[in-house]
Formats: sequence, structure tokens, C-alpha cells
Amino acid sequence: MFWLKWRRLILAVVLAVVTVPIAYRFIPAKASAPLAPAFVRPPAVRVAASSAPPPDVWLVEKTAASETYSNGLRLDTRFTVPNHPRSYLAFSATRPGDLAGTPRSQPVGIVFHTTESRLAPFEADQNRVLQKLGESLLEYVRRKRAYHFLIDRFGRVYRVVAETDAANHAGYSVWADDQSLYVNLNESFLGVSIEAQTHPGQEQAEISPAQLRAAAMLTEMLRSKYHIAAQNCVTHAQVSVNPSNRQIGYHTDWASSFPFEQVGLPDNYARPLPALWAFGFEYNPQFLERGGERLDAGLELAEERLSQRAAAAGMSAQAYRRSLQKQYRARLEAVKRANAAASEESD
Ligand SMILES: [Zn+2]
Repeated sequence: MFWLKWRRLILAVVLAVVTVPIAYRFIPAKASAPLAPAFVRPPAVRVAASSAPPPDVWLVEKTAASETYSNGLRLDTRFTVPNHPRSYLAFSATRPGDLAGTPRSQPVGIVFHTTESRLAPFEADQNRVLQKLGESLLEYVRRKRAYHFLIDRFGRVYRVVAETDAANHAGYSVWADDQSLYVNLNESFLGVSIEAQTHPGQEQAEISPAQLRAAAMLTEMLRSKYHIAAQNCVTHAQVSVNPSNRQIGYHTDWASSFPFEQVGLPDNYARPLPALWAFGFEYNPQFLERGGERLDAGLELAEERLSQRAAAAGMSAQAYRRSLQKQYRARLEAVKRANAAASEESD
């Protein structure tokens, strides 16, 4: 036994002496040369890689009270209410003359909101108050048909308005993707609201980690279910407009503090704001202060795009803006006519 042990030890030493130099030969000559890809540490795993399509999420189990999804999302469905069925007009983004639009009924995006409701400190001894505030908020949202989904302070997700229906979450609002322009997003976008407050110039989200996780899972599920493009997941402040004074930013929830990356989305604040370049809306200097830096970035890019398009059309920026405003008014009328016809039909 003694010799057997010694032989093993000697063998181990010989192997080490022989193999170490062999291993060295595989190390690149230059000390600073990058390691082979296999040795590179992968980046930290996010909910979903920014602009990439979301992973498949499917319904695992459905009861009378809830739905559970394969990504961990649990929807409380006990408080769901109907509104009117979704139907909307999408206008071509490439044919400026398209003022009539094409009827559609599938949701094409998500608008994120905060409830701007009363909040208690997020502490264990406030549990009863936190629960009470959440309950009365849920009741209010339900009565107003205000959002499709509500995420309370504990990260519990409630489906409020049925996904097949419109919710009263965005009023006068606009957005555009590469294919289409959208006017008044109650019908075309799903409204997701987080029980939270935002304030002017705020840059950081003030929500609980549970709310952040819930928002990420809900976004992933909705994007997977309806094939929603990442660029169409935006905040209320980015889409809200006031047609009577032609200004953006009537509502300013999530103006600069929405945690896009942590929700698994690209930073959509960095997109040129369609309200300006596609619809000719304007803003005043006070809005820049209220909006915050991240929204300003989108405004600047939008101004650039507007100037380029005006130059390409051989027009001054002001004349081009006026022509966009005229197109917006025509589209708004088309949308109002379509909504009136839809509500007559359902009566
Ligand atoms: Zn809102």
C-alpha cells in the first residue's frame, strides 16, 4: 500500500511537470492578447436582451381567480371588468397622404403609467395602511376603467380592464413605429399602471423591487402574446399631447424616470419623439424642466429629424410643422368618426 501511494504521488508530479508547459503553449504569445471566447465571462443576464424579441411566455394554469404564466407572472383576475371592444385606425408611416387609416383590433404597444395616488412609507409597520390604499386604488381604477393592468406596492398584478377591450388610460396621445402612426392610444395600446408617484425632473424610479420584477414579467408576457415591438413600449409622458394648444406633455407620468432597462426594454427615451417629428406638436421651455433630461434627449433628436425632413421636402421647418399639424387634425377627426361609429354599433 505504501508503494502504491508513492507511485501515485510520483505519477502526479511527473504529469504536472509535463502538462503545465504543454498548457502554456496554448496561451497566446502576447500577455495582453484577448482570451479565447470560451473564457470570456458572459454579460449579466437581463430579463430579455434589449431590442431582441421576448422569449416565449405561455399560460401555465388558469383558475377562476388567477392566471399563472411560464415566466413566473401571476395575474389576479378577480376584479376584471369589461369596457368596449378594442378597434382603432393605424395610419401609414411611409405614406403621408394616408389620412383615412386602416382598421385594426390587436394591441400594438404598451403605455406605462404611475397612479399618482396617495402612498404610505414602504415599511412593515405600515402594512395595513399600504393594503388599504391599494384596495381603494384598485376600486377606483376599476370604476374608471382606467388601465388594463395595475401593479400594487407589493408587486401584485391585477388585470382590471379586459385585454380585448379599450381602457381610458391615454386620452389625447400619439406614437409612431417604423410602419404606422397611432392617434389616441386608449384603443391601440395596453395601459399598465404602477402604484407610484413621479415628480418634475425626476431621473430615478421610486418603486419597490417587487413592482420592478412584476413590471418586467408582465411586459414580457404581453410582448410575447401580442408580438409587441420593444419600440412601442413607452411612457405616458412620451405620448401625451394637448390638441388645443398643440403642445406635448399634458400628462407627465414617467417623464424621465421609467426603468426601461430593468424592465427588459431598450432605452426608449433615446428615440426621437413622434409627437414632434410625425405630428408637429411643440413644447415650451417650462416643459423641459418638468420633463427631465432623458425626455429632452428624445425632443432634441425629434427636432433634428423634423429639420431633415423639412429640408428634404424643400420646406422651412415651420411650414413643415404646420403641414404635420394639419395631417394630425385630419387623422384625429378620422379616429373620432370611427369611435363614434363603433359606439353606435354597440348601442
Ligand atoms: Zn398616465
